[in-house]
Amino acid sequence: MPDAIVIGGGVMGLASARELRKRAYGVTLLDRAQPGRAASWASAGIIGATLRDESNPSFELRQKSRELWPDFAQAIEDESGLDPEYRETGCLQLATDESELERVRRAGELDPQASFHDGGELRKLEPSLSPKLPGGLLVAGGNVDNRRLCRALEIAIRRAGVTIQTGTEVRALATSGGRVTGVQTAEQHLTADLVVLAAGAWSATIANVDPRPPVAPQRGQILALDQTRVGLRHVLLTPGDPYFVPRSDGRLVIGATREEAGWDASLTAGGVTWLLNRAMDVVPALGGCPIQEMWTGFRPLSEDGLPLIGRGGLDGLFFLTGHGPSGIAPLPGSVRLLMAFVDGHPPPVAPAPFDPLRFRRLES
Ligand SMILES: Cc1cc2nc3c(=O)[nH]c(=O)nc-3n(C[C@H](O)[C@H](O)[C@H](O)COP(=O)(O)OP(=O)(O)OC[C@H]3O[C@@H](n4cnc5c(N)ncnc54)[C@H](O)[C@@H]3O)c2cc1C
Repeated sequence: MPDAIVIGGGVMGLASARELRKRAYGVTLLDRAQPGRAASWASAGIIGATLRDESNPSFELRQKSRELWPDFAQAIEDESGLDPEYRETGCLQLATDESELERVRRAGELDPQASFHDGGELRKLEPSLSPKLPGGLLVAGGNVDNRRLCRALEIAIRRAGVTIQTGTEVRALATSGGRVTGVQTAEQHLTADLVVLAAGAWSATIANVDPRPPVAPQRGQILALDQTRVGLRHVLLTPGDPYFVPRSDGRLVIGATREEAGWDASLTAGGVTWLLNRAMDVVPALGGCPIQEMWTGFRPLSEDGLPLIGRGGLDGLFFLTGHGPSGIAPLPGSVRLLMAFVDGHPPPVAPAPFDPLRFRRLES
């Protein structure tokens, strides 16, 4: 049985460990802390919600993933016994002025599943929206409770026989003659035939990775209110954020700032005030809701904004990182694309825009 090591236990690492195990690899997942406690925990978990935009290479990946999500979520529940609470609530792209209204109206004309609503109709869908909003577009999509998803994936892969080592930071790849032979941690050298780099925002900190992934942390400040008395039902998106994600337990997740702040995980007065003020402009009744929680996370943002999925510059090395602000929505498609490289099967979407080697070509 060939051995695989997965570096990182966010959604990308957990889901790729699951797929490798299905392919009879002996899989060890290493996490410097605990699985499912970094960006994948901090996230809002919005799925779909995309306006049609064929010029963006990740559009096709997210569309493909949206098709895969219902079966993917069901399989994780079956394997773990824990419902990750994937819910197709529909997503409202709200316009805040006339030019934005025109933009969403035009986007709706390209999407047969979308329906355009003027201000009056909008408030029939969501009665607590501000009367100032001129309209919006209802598009397919919803959300998953990403914290439950991480936990369910972790249970599923443990049950399937994946070894998880927590508190184990990979310092470097071990290599020989142009191929990866394993990894070096602070305490041990582990050998493997195949290594998946899924270390999220930390992906550039590991030595000997070729090419060195230009992935950096982007801080997101985000919070949750108890919205039991307001009762929003759809995911709401506004131009330039914030967005609003209702969970089935009465929480409303409101996110998120997008900041270059290095590894500073602080919540700031400015960030939280911005989120709350903008949120109350869109849904005034939120002003009376209790704050349940506030937190931050580091999105793994690549230099060109697209993820790195596929073969690295060493035999046996694979990348699944750099998903930035959209790394829950494309999960099933991204992992399927990665596995197409492992199996040698046709990819589910055109792979070139996500090729990790594109950065090596830029350097030369
Ligand atoms: C505030 C916020 C809101 C978001 N909202 C959405 C959303 O609504 N929809 C959406 O699709 N996406 C969203 N995202 C983006 C999405 O959450 C991320 O793109 C995705 O979770 C990245 O997953 P990952 O597995 O690559 O990284 P992570 O979840 O960060 O996991 C990386 C893991 O690698 C481990 N690790 C790092 N270095 C090492 C090492 N050297 N050795 C061993 N282990 C290591 C870490 O401990 C961590 O567990 C949001 C992100 C944030 C921060």
